[in-house]
Amino acid sequence: MLHIHNTLTKRKEPFKPLDSRIVKFYVCGPTVYDKTHIGHAKTYVAFDVMRRYLEFLGYNVLYIVNITDIEDKIIMKSLKTGKEWHQIADENIVDFFNATDKLNIKRAHIYPRVSEHIEDIIKFIEKLIEKGYAYEAEGNVYFSVDSFSDYGKLSNITREQLKTFEEGSGKRKPYDFALWKKAKPNEPYWNSPWGPGRPGWHIECSVMSSKYLGSQFDIHGGGEDLIFPHHENEIAQSEAYFETKPWVKYWIHTGMLIMGKDKMSKSIGNVITVEELTSKYDPMEIRYYLISGHYRSQLVFSEESLKHAKAAYNRILNAISNLNQIKEEIYGKYKATDKALKTFYEIIKLRNELIEAMDDDFNTPIALAKLHELTSLVNKEILKSPEPLTVLAALKAYEEASEIFGLFEKEFRKGEGREEQLISSLINLILAIRQKYRRRKEWSTADWIASELRKMGIELSDMKDKTLWRIKL
Ligand SMILES: [Zn+2]
Repeated sequence: MLHIHNTLTKRKEPFKPLDSRIVKFYVCGPTVYDKTHIGHAKTYVAFDVMRRYLEFLGYNVLYIVNITDIEDKIIMKSLKTGKEWHQIADENIVDFFNATDKLNIKRAHIYPRVSEHIEDIIKFIEKLIEKGYAYEAEGNVYFSVDSFSDYGKLSNITREQLKTFEEGSGKRKPYDFALWKKAKPNEPYWNSPWGPGRPGWHIECSVMSSKYLGSQFDIHGGGEDLIFPHHENEIAQSEAYFETKPWVKYWIHTGMLIMGKDKMSKSIGNVITVEELTSKYDPMEIRYYLISGHYRSQLVFSEESLKHAKAAYNRILNAISNLNQIKEEIYGKYKATDKALKTFYEIIKLRNELIEAMDDDFNTPIALAKLHELTSLVNKEILKSPEPLTVLAALKAYEEASEIFGLFEKEFRKGEGREEQLISSLINLILAIRQKYRRRKEWSTADWIASELRKMGIELSDMKDKTLWRIKL
């Protein structure tokens, strides 16, 4: 059974969604003032793997990621560059989708944008005022933290710690936070019962998540830097509004990507964008790297560790590709020796251990280690004396892993199109010709064919009496 570490209770809990078949899943998405960097990518890939695993377990997952398209940083950039705020947002939304598509992150079902939900936000705030949880002051609206007795239950922040917070225009307590911000001169604004202004950051997630997922849902995710104040404030707003506790059953937070000594962030300037990194590495190598540690751990970025991950990823990819090539030939050649049977059970054991690791709070490093054990078995045993029993069981285990991790998918889609089949046949024909030269010991011609193929990006590995190949993109 799947167990998830819940930030709300600070422990691992068995996963039981509110409805046994549907998982309602909301993740705090990007503030689109700049390009998507690999720190963001770590978070989105982590949640993508969780979503894929839930789908693998048979749940229907309703997955929502919001887009913050109006916010201080976007306004600041607009004032600095002279570009309209929505133009800045639109450009960076395109970049966000480019980056997440490249990394094979499944698209969410809905990407609600703040600027398209202003009416809903205003109505939500009006009700909070009506219920006595919020108040208007000088054109702003604040949430009264003292009115919500559970405040601090997610982040464990105390009232004492909160007292050091900034005083603001008309705030009753320094730690009250803005639901509606009065527009300053030259800022974009919407009209409201409290005058022209725009929503605060926290309220948007309370409003947009409940609009699509209802007054209570299963999973709310985000980077660990959002626990306070963002998620603490979301809980206060939503539980005050809906009077349902807990508003969200499982809170999941991901560890940050560290660059040098600090977390990767635009404001520090230690940023590598997904666009930059994918020009140097295969996006699947980057994806593998990002899930090579546990999602709750920090990942200290270095090129060296990325190169390590690249080699590890390709080791598995090669094994799958080699198995795929001998698959067709060995059909019908059942020997089912005792040794093969033993290997078969070993494959099943590793497959089950991979699932157990994922069930334990999505433990991808252990799950990937199981995949490497399988790969050693493939290279040492299965490829040397291939039998349908072992080859097909190993491929099945890889295919499941591919579905869960969102990696190696090309290997399982290969050969579907007519053109791909033709390319495959042609490469096999060339290799058969080369084999003839090898048998006649005409090495220079055989080597010339091999080197020409390699130049085209076709990798070869010579076995005893045949040559395996794969196209390296
Ligand atoms: Zn949020």
